[in-house]
Formats: sequence, structure tokens, C-alpha cells
Amino acid sequence: MEHSPLETLTSCPRCGSSSPTLTQAVRDHSISKEVFQVCTCASCGFTFTNPRPTPNELGRYYESEVYISHSNTSHSLQDKIYQLVRRRAIRQKHALIAAHEPQGRVLDIGCGTGQFLAYLMSRGYLVQGVEPSTLAREQAIADHALNVVPSLEQVQSQENFQVVTMWHVLEHVPDVRATFKRLFALLGKRGLLVIAVPDRESWDAQHYGSDWAAYDVPRHLSHFRRADVHAFLAEHGFELIATRGMWMDAFYIALLSERYRGTTGLLALIKAVVVGGWSNVLALLGKRPTSSSLYLARKLEL
Ligand SMILES: [Zn+2]
Repeated sequence: MEHSPLETLTSCPRCGSSSPTLTQAVRDHSISKEVFQVCTCASCGFTFTNPRPTPNELGRYYESEVYISHSNTSHSLQDKIYQLVRRRAIRQKHALIAAHEPQGRVLDIGCGTGQFLAYLMSRGYLVQGVEPSTLAREQAIADHALNVVPSLEQVQSQENFQVVTMWHVLEHVPDVRATFKRLFALLGKRGLLVIAVPDRESWDAQHYGSDWAAYDVPRHLSHFRRADVHAFLAEHGFELIATRGMWMDAFYIALLSERYRGTTGLLALIKAVVVGGWSNVLALLGKRPTSSSLYLARKLEL
């Protein structure tokens, strides 16, 4: 694959500073094999992929069977684990939302093939999705008769959702600030915002360094820490109500990272259990954040 046209951000997406940034080279292990730079702002410490493919070019970095195979067929051991974890995750996500909003309108941004929304619909929620991938979107509509649009801009702003969810989506978004503004506009009074993102301060991130699978450049454009998410929420009119660890992510990310390092078969699985397990132990002890974190926030009254 030839390198696509890149755009360079001249200021930090979090604080706007144009002060020098530290950079680290990270390879796209899963699709293009190209090397990208990940920058860390000298002022606020926010980390982002820079330069990065232009919005029009980003789509080609998603054109992989790997991304699509996750949604329907099971081939490898890794995919089987993924399917198992995902079914359990859908039930847990529903329980989490139901504890805060037992009914109402839910918007899932990056809804993929729509299993989560279909499950919520079966539990009495009114649901809508946003999914840029044509293939996934069409499957969500065909399989579950869901209302899914290609972009956030196409969601009617007067819809006043009680819940908006972004499961491992915010790290893919080219303009984090514009997205938070849009989230604020879409949510109804005291609406619930649910965001899940990887955390580069987790122990597994440190252990794997540039091979950490959750860098996933150039698809991941932002590489958050808890402090970054807290700052974005506070600046855009949201009150953080809870931060939760996502315990299974450490194992899945460790397994992918091992594969990127060339480890195969049972050994990869064993190493993933050890590394993922240790990352979780350190998180339980409060020494590190989990591999991924879940943030629950409420829209503040203006
Ligand atoms: Zn900054």
C-alpha cells in the first residue's frame, strides 16, 4: 500500500499549544504496515497521531477483512475469544446503561453491525446508530432493521437522546472538540454520555511500547489518558459521574500485541493471560489505569 496523503496538525488538539512535541514511531501492524508518528504535547501531555491521513483517506486504512470478520464469522482462536467476550460485553453494557437510564432514546456512535443496538431495542429502548462503514451499516439495517446514518452530522440535533454511547470510537474521531460539542447538542437534559477508550498509561501499554495494539495507528488518532478525557468532558459541559476499568480489554490487547511481535499459538495466549492479568492486578491496586477505561458523564445544566 502506498502512503496516502497526510495532514499535519500544527497545534495540540487538547490544549491548542503549538509548543514542540515529543514523537514516537509506531507501525500499523494490522493493515498497511506503514509507520506513523505519535506526538505528545509538551504543554498538556496529550498524545495524538501526527501527521495523519486526511479524513478522505482514512477509510482505506479500515478496508480489511479483519475488521469485518469480527462481526460475523469465527476463524481463529483469537476471533472465537473476541466473539465470546463481545456477547458478554453487550449484556454488561446494557446493565450499565439500565442502571442509569432504564428507558429512552439511545444513540450509539460507531455502532458497527448493530448487535448492541439490537439488544437494547429488544429491551425496550428506542435506538439509532451512526456507522461510517458502508458494509457494516448496511448489515445493521438488513439484519436488525435499525435506523443507522453514516455520520454524526446526519443525526437530527433536536432528537434529544437520553443516552449517547461511544464504545472505542472517540480515539478514531478526527476532531475531538467538534465531537464533544455535537454530543452536548444531541443529548437531552442531564443526558448520559458513555465513552470507552484505551489508556496509554496502562501497564500493558508500557510493556508493549510501540507494539501496543491499542495504538492502532492511523485508525486511532488520539491516545488518551484519564486526565485527557476528564479535561475534554469538563471543558464541554459534562460532569463525570464514574470511571470504570474494562478488565477484558487487557487480555485482548495483549493477545493482539503478542501477535504483532510474532508470537503465535498457545504461547501467545499464555503470554496474553500473564501480561493482561498483571496489567489488571496493577489497576486493582490503583497503581495504573486499566488497558481501557469507561467514562460515564452527565450533561450539565447551562
Ligand atoms: Zn496540549
